[in-house]
Parts: sequence; structure tokens; C-alpha cells
Amino acid sequence: MPELPEVETVRRGLLPVLEGAVIVRAEVNRPDLRWPLPERMAERLTGREVTALRRRSKYILADLDSGETLLVHLGMSGRMLISGAQVGVHYRDHPAPQKHDHVVLHMESGARITFNDARRFGAMDLMPTDGAHPLLEGLGPEPFGNDFNGPYLAARLKGRRTPIKSALLDQRIVAGLGNIYVAETLYRARISPLRLAGDLAEAQAQALVPLIREVLAEAIEAGGSSLRDFRQANGELGYFSKHFQVYDREGQPCETPGCSGTIIRTVQSGRSSFWCPACQR
Ligand SMILES: [Zn+2]
Repeated sequence: MPELPEVETVRRGLLPVLEGAVIVRAEVNRPDLRWPLPERMAERLTGREVTALRRRSKYILADLDSGETLLVHLGMSGRMLISGAQVGVHYRDHPAPQKHDHVVLHMESGARITFNDARRFGAMDLMPTDGAHPLLEGLGPEPFGNDFNGPYLAARLKGRRTPIKSALLDQRIVAGLGNIYVAETLYRARISPLRLAGDLAEAQAQALVPLIREVLAEAIEAGGSSLRDFRQANGELGYFSKHFQVYDREGQPCETPGCSGTIIRTVQSGRSSFWCPACQR
């Protein structure tokens, strides 16, 4: 499941072909993804200029000159492919159409953006640019925004009788974090994912804010370098390899200098937590 850094990487990859560009034709090849696609979607996209390409949490938002915004969620397996354009160091030719190419945007420049999603957990919708959308409702602050700060997070965690891991995954508290980057943050904070959120000292809670930003910023940077040299063989955006310190490292030695612990995996609310019981308390 892509988290904020992967979605931000897709947004940055799409920027040069989408922002300020005109969609001359939109192919909408089925009526639904996870949910029904909006009515007359192809018609509402055709001839429109994308005036801005934004991100909110794990959603990409393409503002159109019609006053509508195209909302995109990649779901579990959604991929964006750019072709007919220079991407990183390579010019990518248009590929042969593939099964699961559900939405294809043909740009005036000759570039093409293909949304392929085998499992169809992705979503697209059109909303008024200055309006609300149910998927965006109730989302907490962006991790890099000014509203997300030490006193805010400490106040939100105070008295909460849920594990800190669950609290950081709660999109109403902070938007965009998922299983991977919460694990990495808690490792750097030396906090066990099992600790109750309300049991953290005020200073500990506040110290999570710069660590969350650090972990996300490093991942966005890794995504950026994968975009620049475009290591992805098939031209898809967003998924990049990155070294994690605890995520998916069950049974491997802890990387903290002087710690002889071993990374373990604990299942919490049906999801894996990776952590070092020796240095995370
Ligand atoms: Zn350790």
C-alpha cells in the first residue's frame, strides 16, 4: 500500500507532463474501480487544462480549469505509467495497451498517462475544487504542515488508551502515515509500538514530530532519486527500493550502535509491527 512518500513521488513524477498541460482525450475503460467512476468522466476531462497538481495525504489532486478536481488514490496495486515523454534520463515510447489499463489520459504534448490497477482497490473521482469530498473529510494535518507540531501531537496522544502505533496510523491525528513509516519512526524514537499513546511523556510525544518528518523526507528523497535515474524497468512511477531499519527485517540484527537486539515482528490489530525489543521501550 503506497504511503505518503510513494504518493508524493508519483505526484512529482507526473508534474512535468500534467501540470499546465491539456488533456486532449481521456479513455475511461470501465465504469468502476473500487467505487463507481464519476458520470461522464471522459467528457469532463477532455479539453481541460490541469492548472495544479497537489497531494493531500495519500491522494493526488489534479485541479482542472473547469473548476473541478480529479482525485486519485492508487489503492494497493495502482500504477501510473508515463509514456511519449522524457522521464528521468530515458524517453519512453508508448507501450502496447495492457490488461487493467483502466484510465488513459492523452495529453496535447503527445505524452500519455496510463492508470493500471490489476486489483482495482484504487479510486478516482471528480469533485469541485473548492468543495469537500468524503475521502478527504476528517483527515488530520499534513506531517509537513505547520498545524502538525509538538504541542498538537502531545495533546492528541494525551489520555489515549490505544497503542502508539495505532494512534500514529489514525489518519485523523496525522494524514498519510502507514505501517512502514510508523515502524521506522518508532524505531528512531526508541519507543515500543505496544506502548499506550497516553503513557508517553509530553517530551517524547513532541519529539515524534521531527522524527516523522525525517523518516518521510528521507523516503521522498529516495523516491526522487529513483525518478531521476528512473530505475523502474517498465516506466511506472512511485514504487522505489529503500533501506528500512526495522520494517520487514524480522530476525535480523538491530542497527542501533551498541544494541545486540534482534528485530521481531508482532501482530497488532491484524497488521505486522517490526521493532527491536532491546532498544524500543
Ligand atoms: Zn535495538
